[in-house]
Amino acid sequence: MSDLTFEIQSHPAPRTAEERAALMANPGFGKVFTDHMVVARYEAGRGWHDARIQARQAIPLDPASAVLHYAQEIFEGLKAYRTADGGAALFRPDANARRFRHSAERLAIAPFPEDAFVEAMHKLVEIDRAWIPNTPDGSLYLRPFMIATEAFLGVRPASEYLFITIASAVGSYFKDPNNAVSVWVSEHYTRAAPGGTGAAKCGGNYAASLAAQSEAVAQGCEQVVFLDAVERRYIEELGGMNVFFVFEDGTLVTPPLSDSILHGITRDSVLTLAREAGLTVKEEPYTIDAWRADVREGRLTEAFACGTAAVITPIGTVKGREESFTIGNGKAGPVAQRLRSLLVDIQRGNTNDAHGWFQKV
Ligand code: PMP
Repeated sequence: MSDLTFEIQSHPAPRTAEERAALMANPGFGKVFTDHMVVARYEAGRGWHDARIQARQAIPLDPASAVLHYAQEIFEGLKAYRTADGGAALFRPDANARRFRHSAERLAIAPFPEDAFVEAMHKLVEIDRAWIPNTPDGSLYLRPFMIATEAFLGVRPASEYLFITIASAVGSYFKDPNNAVSVWVSEHYTRAAPGGTGAAKCGGNYAASLAAQSEAVAQGCEQVVFLDAVERRYIEELGGMNVFFVFEDGTLVTPPLSDSILHGITRDSVLTLAREAGLTVKEEPYTIDAWRADVREGRLTEAFACGTAAVITPIGTVKGREESFTIGNGKAGPVAQRLRSLLVDIQRGNTNDAHGWFQKV
């Protein structure tokens, strides 16, 4: 247990209920921010200190801060939900705390204590609970992150870090959550290589994915499918989501975890729920050629992306340089739909959670 305690400094002039309602009427994703943020500082030799919840504000940074030069940064993404009884709940914040620590280790960042991470999420949701949208697709997206703040231009792990968590009232990630997304198979760019940082949630991975994402948009697609960096045939994941395939015999397949795939918490939850629902679930490599052939020959009936932001989103059209193919009718198939409601019912407290995933705030 860490002995870090969070001092609460409430915002002296939080926005009014009317101002909040206007901002939250149509929040989109990641544009509407709450009144508060969590802050904590680290210095080598002193450890984590000065932890507090305070008014959300700009942060002063020395222009020599290591993060600005060598991208020593990691982040997380998790959601708080409004429950049917009007309360608030978090979904598996302990899993995000663990992944945050693994990311810190990979980026040579001072790890943030896992119990303090979970406590910070609870405290922020408590103080900003009025910002959780009261809509079926709405939630409060929490964005914890850490940056290297030491002013030093040598290339080595920094000795000073800043931990921050901001919160954003969000609607659904995609414009129409009931419609399938189209994906572009990136043949030129890869996302992560063996031994690289693909399994860490570091900003650099996302910076490196943007050229491929722009290519996807230019091709009329919403997301990128990344293939493995060695053989360029195995499907790894989308730019910000893991991927599942559903076969006509009801089998569910998802690529196995490796150091080049983000270990998604939604992916892990879907695997558990699918097994409990009696589906056959396989974590095994799957190639782009097999995907194309299985769709063409009718063996594959559904494919979907999953993640905190996307929840479970069906994949409709798959476009590559050579050819495109379409899965199903462009709407969520029955397996995706079933898994989505099993998951959402736990997240929103509509059903009993035997897994210990649902945490009331
Ligand atoms: N892959 C990548 C690259 C991601 O950015 C995300 C979102 N965090 C995911 C998968 C899904 O992870 P999770 O279910 O934990 O949100």
